[in-house]
Amino acid sequence: MTQRAHTHKAAEPNPPEGRHGAFLPFASPSIDAETVAAVANVLRSGWITSGPQVEAFEAALSGYLGGRTVRTFTSATGALEVALQICNIGPGDEVIVPAMTFAATANVVVRVGAKPVFVDVGLATRNIDIGQVEAAITPHTKAVMPVHFAGLPVDMDALYALAQQRGLRVIEDAAHAIGSSHCNRRIGSFGDLVAFSFHPNKNLTTIEGGALSIRDPAEVKRVERLRFHGIGHGDDGMDVIEAGGKYNLTDVAACVGLGQLRQLEQLNRRRRELAARYFERLQTNPPLQLPARGDEGHSWHMFAPLLPLEQLRFGRQDFIREMVAHGIGVGVHYPALHLFTLYRKMGYKAGDFPNAERIGRSTVTLPLYPALSEDDIDRVCAACVQVLLNRH
Ligand SMILES: *Cc1c(COP(=O)(O)O)cnc(C)c1O
Repeated sequence: MTQRAHTHKAAEPNPPEGRHGAFLPFASPSIDAETVAAVANVLRSGWITSGPQVEAFEAALSGYLGGRTVRTFTSATGALEVALQICNIGPGDEVIVPAMTFAATANVVVRVGAKPVFVDVGLATRNIDIGQVEAAITPHTKAVMPVHFAGLPVDMDALYALAQQRGLRVIEDAAHAIGSSHCNRRIGSFGDLVAFSFHPNKNLTTIEGGALSIRDPAEVKRVERLRFHGIGHGDDGMDVIEAGGKYNLTDVAACVGLGQLRQLEQLNRRRRELAARYFERLQTNPPLQLPARGDEGHSWHMFAPLLPLEQLRFGRQDFIREMVAHGIGVGVHYPALHLFTLYRKMGYKAGDFPNAERIGRSTVTLPLYPALSEDDIDRVCAACVQVLLNRH
């Protein structure tokens, strides 16, 4: 389900139209005609991989993030992995990660040879519980990786105060949070290392892509090296300093990103309006448990209430199937991470993180993307009412 939720399906035919109109997927990118035309120009230009568009996109992202240094990647996963390498995190080290997030957040810790130490999240916020972060710190802890879940910022003042006091690096998984703000400061305009995703489901897309916002200018050269084969420049031209990866964004993708960034504030404003409509209109019996509302700093990457499973005579798969029959796509973001085979093998088990597990069992992601109308949201709400009716 997670794989499906994270695979962009636009190239495949939509499921048959529901009885009530065109199929509404749970996520869909908004790419304007100007961007499409600009991409065609890049394709015709003769320079299609990393070049002037990447430079322009990184400069534009830097402008958007208050002048921070930003480097682009082929994915947030690549950016997170390089961030861990920048912090010299490897075998013997521990990194604190929420148990409710996409698999990439913890997988990258495993990939650099370190140990992900999970902690639970708030039931409504889905964000890492800072008290539990403090309790999970050991002499081996090197970093914390908060996730701004669904675009709702973690309390960064509290987290950075703790990190500073305990000498930890902070690698923010801001995959959901381009355009989110905490106390009027954009996520990625402050903080240590902040990674964004530009996957098609995210608030800004480059088809596939990501970026890293970097506080310490002294670390930028190494970020660039780890992004591209570990190549540096010696006295006699090219040199290889370390075994880097291959994560450079293409100019075609960067051109899509430039168009998206121009639209971002408007697209996120629309997401906020549509989320507000859900809060106003989504009244089922039995009631869904709605996510934390946050404030204007929430960028509403997703709208994911919890099913009241203990009050229902059917399961989540039945709910999803019936919503699809109404022409409405529903995602699952995410199953609790510590219960996947890889992490069970490390000793994690059911019961370790009750909130993450409850969310993992009962979360459903309803359609939320800028191209939806108020009527579409009302249709989703009406379908939820119908599907849950008499299922006590
Ligand atoms: C999408 C996502 C990622 C990975 O992003 P990619 O760009 O696909 O690598 C990482 N963490 C979270 C929380 C995500 O939702």
